[in-house]
Amino acid sequence: MKIAIASSELLPFAKTGGLADAVASLAKALAKKGNIVYTFLPRYGFINGDRSLLSLNDVKITEIEENENLHHLFIQHPIFNRKGIYGENGKDYPDNFERFTLFSKYVVDTVLKKLDVDILHINDWHTGFAPLYMKNKYGDNTIPVLFTIHNLAYQGVFPLSYAEKIGAPSEWFKDFLQEGMINFMKIGILTADAINTVSPTYAKEIQTKEFGEGLDKFLIQRRKDLYGILNGIDVDYWKPPYTTKTLGMKENFKKILKNKSGLSDGDIPLFGIVTRLAEQKGIDILLEGINRFLSMNVNFVLLGTGDLKYHSKFEKIAKKYPDKTSINLKFDAELAFDIYRGADFFLMPSRFEPCGLGQMISLINGTIPIVRKTGGLADTVFEYRKETGEGNGFLFEEYSTEPFLKAIKRAINIYSEKEHLRKLRINGMKSDFSFDKSASEYEKLYEKLLTQ
Ligand code: ADP
Repeated sequence: MKIAIASSELLPFAKTGGLADAVASLAKALAKKGNIVYTFLPRYGFINGDRSLLSLNDVKITEIEENENLHHLFIQHPIFNRKGIYGENGKDYPDNFERFTLFSKYVVDTVLKKLDVDILHINDWHTGFAPLYMKNKYGDNTIPVLFTIHNLAYQGVFPLSYAEKIGAPSEWFKDFLQEGMINFMKIGILTADAINTVSPTYAKEIQTKEFGEGLDKFLIQRRKDLYGILNGIDVDYWKPPYTTKTLGMKENFKKILKNKSGLSDGDIPLFGIVTRLAEQKGIDILLEGINRFLSMNVNFVLLGTGDLKYHSKFEKIAKKYPDKTSINLKFDAELAFDIYRGADFFLMPSRFEPCGLGQMISLINGTIPIVRKTGGLADTVFEYRKETGEGNGFLFEEYSTEPFLKAIKRAINIYSEKEHLRKLRINGMKSDFSFDKSASEYEKLYEKLLTQ
């Protein structure tokens, strides 16, 4: 098959979160299976496209060929030529409406006019305009579009009057308005040929009021075309240099992490977290219980950036517990590696989690996840049972501090039972989170769309 995949983020070129990982791994895995894959990314100011491939009106498209089957195409236009992906200094760019409709438009034009592809696979709200534009502009001469929802919470909401800015008739939008506003997530959901989310549990959850972010009604309306496909991770990139047989080596990585973080020595359970500091990630329940958590005999390393209100709270925690904590309020790919390898336990108390990569990266590194039972976390983490030796982590269900702390306590108790601890780590390391499995499911879905 020939497949075009459009996304606002793609590793190794542009990343703020899991979207970049997921799309890059999928593209790579599909290409490895013999498909021809074209990825599309805006050419942000920090990307150096390689050779110029083709031009479409005022836009140039450059290409980096990763291998024979995998071509990365960059849409080059002054509007993308900035330091940020969505904004700078915590503020979104005011012209994101124009930026991402332009991106979507040029993806569709290129795919239909210049490349002979079978399927267009778009991702999140930034590309939600693509199927609407395609249907209005090209009528029946179109190809099937799959819309993947990586995060329903970000919907791309703009006033209807903005349609003028791009010269699109407002009639295009009028059947898809949400509370009077243009909503690109809703447009994607209602105009793509099929929709999927990045885990089976999240696909079910978003059809409820609790997780539907106001769009549950439309997701229920499209439930026949709504799928859940669990993401994988780039196992080659994340796998540790030790195996289940040389697990003792993990101790060295704990030492490295402790040294780098200025934590004192001693056989104390080390908890890590690598996260966007956003409400979604359960930061509120973590902060609410943090004094009780840190009154236990534990060490804690946090790596995260995001909401400034959380930054200042964690700065206070760092001052209050200088010996037990290492608080790193930044984006740091190397430190993330150190935490995934060096921590004993990894925290993910998410309020909701479409898939989640952190728990999978932790598991294959023998680092034990403590997670809320939601979305992709519920599909990948299973409570450890001492009686059977089955399970790979610790879970809690209700979104509140008390059950979260209880799960942490279960983890601390296991820490001194070294045989169970070892079993837990090995169970996690044996998981298969390779993207090949996900890619096969996507292939099946593409084929289904092609024969519909
Ligand atoms: P989301 O996409 O919602 O942020 P995921 O768990 O799906 O959450 O993916 C997050 C990815 O971003 C992981 O690969 C994680 O390691 C990485 N990440 C998040 N915050 C940071 C940070 N501050 N520094 C380095 N990596 C980070």
